[in-house]
Amino acid sequence: MNDAIRPQPGIMDIALYVSGESKVAGKTEVLKLSSNENPYGPSPRAQAAFAEAAASLHRYPSTDHAELRAAIGAVHGLDPERIICGVGSDEVLQFITQAYAGPGDECITTEHGFSMYPILAHAAGATPVTVAERERRVDVDAILAAVTPRTRVVFIANPANPTGTMVAEADLRRLAEGLGAGVILVLDGAYAEFAGDFDGGVSLVEEFPQVVMTRTFSKIHGLGGLRIGWGYARREIIDVLNRIRQPFNLSLAQMAAAEAAVRDVDYTRFCATENARWRDFLRNGLVQMGVACDESFANFVLARFASSDEAEAADRALREDGILVRKVGGYGLPQCLRITVGDEAACRRILGVIATFKGIR
Ligand SMILES: *Cc1c(COP(=O)(O)O)cnc(C)c1O
Repeated sequence: MNDAIRPQPGIMDIALYVSGESKVAGKTEVLKLSSNENPYGPSPRAQAAFAEAAASLHRYPSTDHAELRAAIGAVHGLDPERIICGVGSDEVLQFITQAYAGPGDECITTEHGFSMYPILAHAAGATPVTVAERERRVDVDAILAAVTPRTRVVFIANPANPTGTMVAEADLRRLAEGLGAGVILVLDGAYAEFAGDFDGGVSLVEEFPQVVMTRTFSKIHGLGGLRIGWGYARREIIDVLNRIRQPFNLSLAQMAAAEAAVRDVDYTRFCATENARWRDFLRNGLVQMGVACDESFANFVLARFASSDEAEAADRALREDGILVRKVGGYGLPQCLRITVGDEAACRRILGVIATFKGIR
């Protein structure tokens, strides 16, 4: 070790992100339900736009993402000037953390919260503070009780990953009021489109100057492989974030595909409708077999087994059948498995394996 070169404080505290597995030893046909991917794939229009972009790859992309922001603004009814685009919403979350938190500051995340939040806090040199949840739901009062003069950012995914639960808008409003104007409240809406007519946090952004909403093309738009996300906040915040954004952070092909995807509202609606239908089917099937399952507002369900041993055994049975789901022991939920809602065949196959596992048929 060379003692003279030392990384910035916090970097060595980062526990590397663990992504959903994609391979099972000895299986060629794997059903991957471990990363909340869209089972129907990206919109055919997004695929065509991506292919078409191939001929222009010698050109540098736009630095201001104007066309993509205009498309997002038009579809969601938002002011494009208050939108910022990033390499996945992960990058937008990174901009927020880097811009507003540093050494000596605290970033609040919750007990079963998304694992990227503490990673980003550490990367900025800040200290992540984890607040307990109540029955797998974000507890607004516990968050308010954990706020100190050093708190800079609070992260909440709504719907949450990996629990799939939601915080009511009235509670979020109470949280924003309680935090006051000096603490950024991040509402991560990665799964907003799966939660019915939920606006992802737009109305709270309009109401409170310190609320930032993030969204992604990785989930409902089926473009996780392409890496595009965006954020919405008041102008002053977007202006701050743009200063640390690399001018060419998004490629031409990313922007072309994302623009086509967001404009294909019929396809988006189709994916949301199918998801809701098979999510209910999957959850009801699990509950009927004695596997507890909270109501989910996302594109996955959290299957709660009697013990961590039973969850491990169920995971082995699924793998044996070539099905990959997500173990969530790292999220403080060792008795649970997070299962992405696939298409009809995938959901039926899951329930079949669990039925056999439970000795039901
Ligand atoms: C999947 C997910 C995201 C999306 O991340 P990208 O970088 O946009 O792919 C963001 N937040 C949560 C909670 C997620 O589960």
